Amino acid sequence: MIQYMAVSNEIAPLRTDDAVRFVTRFAPSPNGYLHIGHAFAAIVAHDLARQNDGQFLLRIEDIDGARSRDAHINGIIDDLHWLGLSWDGDVLLQSTRDAAYQTALDSLDATGLVYRCFCSRQDIAATLQDKAVLHGPDGPHYPGTCRDIAPQDSDRRALAEPFAWRLDMAKAIDQMAPLTWCDQIAGTVHADPAIFGDIILWRKDALAGYHLAATIDDAYQAITHVVRGLDLFPYTHIHRLLQELLGLPQPEYLHHALLLDPDGKKLAKSLNSPTLRARRLAGEDGMALAQSLRSGELPLGISVSST
Ligand code: GLU
Repeated sequence: MIQYMAVSNEIAPLRTDDAVRFVTRFAPSPNGYLHIGHAFAAIVAHDLARQNDGQFLLRIEDIDGARSRDAHINGIIDDLHWLGLSWDGDVLLQSTRDAAYQTALDSLDATGLVYRCFCSRQDIAATLQDKAVLHGPDGPHYPGTCRDIAPQDSDRRALAEPFAWRLDMAKAIDQMAPLTWCDQIAGTVHADPAIFGDIILWRKDALAGYHLAATIDDAYQAITHVVRGLDLFPYTHIHRLLQELLGLPQPEYLHHALLLDPDGKKLAKSLNSPTLRARRLAGEDGMALAQSLRSGELPLGISVSST
């Protein structure tokens, strides 16, 4: 029987137990079944915690109710057991954490660092056609259309129109001394969140965005070492800034290499990479698979990206 953490509105760290100095997490989104790249990520985070007498936590990033499925949550849990990985404490479901995310958004709103954005994708695409905008890791920067809407106009429009919340990136950065993070592979990295422009913190469909939710829950779960794939490395620029803005502790990071498919592309749910579930149901030995991933013996056609 899986134990889920009780609903909590807290942003601040849950744990006051200073004895646990090494806490990692695996934080999959249950919008598909896991593949061998997820197995690798979970093993790296799990083994680091175990080697350091620490804790390995499981967080299900199911903020997006429309794309999350219970079957996928159950699949994640069964896959981890099959791989021989155990986690500490109760599983945290992000779908129970809305109030904490809202509190954080309200505090950013109170300092004038966020604004409502009423633009549709089409509005943004149309504006981008006539403007020279900067491009970041996620594509063109938001052109800033709603940044200067007067507060009373924004309040009035909010009664009738759906809106997202964006971070006023330039204003936020202005308030900060230069930020860095400690990355176990990359060393000391200078955080440069400006490369993303005005990111979305709260989505138009009234859901907290990944950056806000993940940053808050890493603090809430008192994660000391955020272990995740290199594909998420750029987002750490944003997460460091949000930690400072929200007064949250700063974890260390380890961005590990990715497993690649025979075409040299990152394994992805959307590319129909063979799932762990399929391997499990076919009777494969999950613990043996985990051992071979640990020793660098990869299944045929799979390779590791350079770091
Ligand atoms: N939920 C994200 C994913 O499945 C991982 C987020 C993270 O590790 O920060 O890709």
